[in-house]
Amino acid sequence: VNGGQPYIGRFAPSPSGPLHFGSLLAAVASYLDARSQAGKWLLRIEDIDPPRQQPGADADILATLDAYGFEWDGEVSYQRKQRARHLQCIDELQQRGLAYACDCSRRDLGDEPRSSLGIIYPGTCRTRTNLPTGDSAIRVRTHDDEIAFNDQLQGRYAQKLESESGDFVIHRRDDLIAYHLAVVVDDFDQQITHVVRGIDLLDSTPRQIHLQHLLDFSTPVYSHLPVAINRDGQKLSKLTGANPVRRDQVGETLYRTLQALRQEPPAALQSEATPAIWQWAIEHWHSAALVGFESIDAVAQGFA
Ligand SMILES: [Zn+2]
Repeated sequence: VNGGQPYIGRFAPSPSGPLHFGSLLAAVASYLDARSQAGKWLLRIEDIDPPRQQPGADADILATLDAYGFEWDGEVSYQRKQRARHLQCIDELQQRGLAYACDCSRRDLGDEPRSSLGIIYPGTCRTRTNLPTGDSAIRVRTHDDEIAFNDQLQGRYAQKLESESGDFVIHRRDDLIAYHLAVVVDDFDQQITHVVRGIDLLDSTPRQIHLQHLLDFSTPVYSHLPVAINRDGQKLSKLTGANPVRRDQVGETLYRTLQALRQEPPAALQSEATPAIWQWAIEHWHSAALVGFESIDAVAQGFA
């Protein structure tokens, strides 16, 4: 994978609310992984799902990243602006017979078997000849050849998509672009070589690799980080009431984030200025400290 290509990483928050500790972990880890390998680090706002977004959250996230001294390469990109390109890829898959229209409702599929990925689509519309006339989704065909990859932190991970998810949606019935399609196209177009993100996306990765194969895109190196959990064992998120990251305690917060990422920063670093903390963190970054960890206790780190 990626033989000899320069490292290009990214952080890709969705503007569903202010940056919280869970998303700060992913920002810091992806940044350090890129900078420690003299790589680029791009910033992409994944704003393709307006119903889940909060007005102003994108600007708020950027202000927090700026306050923490993150330096991204190039302009911030906005996923919604790539819609024409996303639609072009969906159309290409349809033209090649790899995707098809489906107007099955949730109710139609309600009795179908489920996996951890959700309802397993049984392929009802795969072979139909009368195209849907009303609103419909577009699904991509899957197969049952195992799709496996070696995650840098979580090890080998594999799925058989036809059995575990069935043909999945790439263009939603409400006309929004599905996340798996958008992220795969954007990562390819931005020549991303390394994806460092939360472990909650681990089980999405085989579907994304499947799309990369069909679209003849290269597959980046993946590292799925342990996810920050609260005292109830829930992932920190807007839904679980995660607190926004404060902008007035940058050094202290950054120091505790490095502790949470098991980087073992020396105590003396706590009283240093932010640039010195970053410099230490880049020089000492070792993702191996996170191998095999699935969660980080946000309470123990004072973040929940
Ligand atoms: Zn259908």
